[in-house]
Amino acid sequence: MAIVELYQLTKSYKNNRGISDMSFSIEEGEIFGFIGPNGAGKSTTIRTLLNFIFPTSGSATVFGKDIVKQSKEIRQQVGYLPSEVHYYDDMKVIDLLTYSARFHKNFNAARMKDLAARLDLDVSRKIEDLSFGNRKKVGIVQALLHEPKLIILDEPTSGLDPLMQHHFFDLLHEERKRGATIFFSSHILSEVQKMCDRVAIIKEGKLVRVETIENLTKNKVKNITLTFEKAEPLYVELEGVIKQEVNANEIKLLYSGEIQELLSKLNGLPLHDLLIEEPTLEEIFMHYYES
Ligand code: ADP
Repeated sequence: MAIVELYQLTKSYKNNRGISDMSFSIEEGEIFGFIGPNGAGKSTTIRTLLNFIFPTSGSATVFGKDIVKQSKEIRQQVGYLPSEVHYYDDMKVIDLLTYSARFHKNFNAARMKDLAARLDLDVSRKIEDLSFGNRKKVGIVQALLHEPKLIILDEPTSGLDPLMQHHFFDLLHEERKRGATIFFSSHILSEVQKMCDRVAIIKEGKLVRVETIENLTKNKVKNITLTFEKAEPLYVELEGVIKQEVNANEIKLLYSGEIQELLSKLNGLPLHDLLIEEPTLEEIFMHYYES
């Protein structure tokens, strides 16, 4: 069953582009990445799904329920970590967590202690004394506390050091084993690659592609470096050449065509060396964002 489903969801701000015609779905139990540069529309999509802002047109469902008409019921079963967390500074962490837990039926003190301990968060401290990273941890505990069916994380790792990120990712994998679905927004490719099963790529408010991480990285695109004995005034003209950079006696190609065709094209040229590599996810993504 689809846990989240968007049908041409559109949100325009008065003077700004928000998101337009966004359609995709997230299946139960997935860790689904949402990636795009700052300003692409990730927060706008999430905030519309949670009905903090209203769609301009289109619609969406979460757990099969309408995001506008049934938002209260939806929120009961969603854990949300906003990209920026704001709290009443004067409160102690434990009081804030107990307070926010009252909105959910299944508050579990042992779970709160366990989550805080796993993230190395001292719940007896006042919010105002916490660093940015520690505030983020408060937000994470708050989002996971009531064992939500859907966990929505907007740029969750900013402020967490690498070790803490590691603990946090472990925690998310356990949440998924428990049966949760995770929607993970980020502008950092490596963490999406590490965490997610599928990813939606967005650019300037529009969906560019939805793909499994596996297909994105195992596609036919190759990085090819040709080294010649001396500088060659040469461009490889061949279908499938996505990009070509010439530097002295070296030509770098991003190539998605048939290897046989490339080899016959190179046959007879004064080639000194040939290197064929898998492109990094970064390079594949850049391909979507250039143009
Ligand atoms: P992301 O989360 O991917 O960084 P946002 O959803 O925050 O992107 O922003 C998408 C676009 O919508 C940007 O052009 C941004 O300037 C605009 N935007 C976001 N929030 C508002 C707002 N409250 N009022 C007007 N424009 C906004």
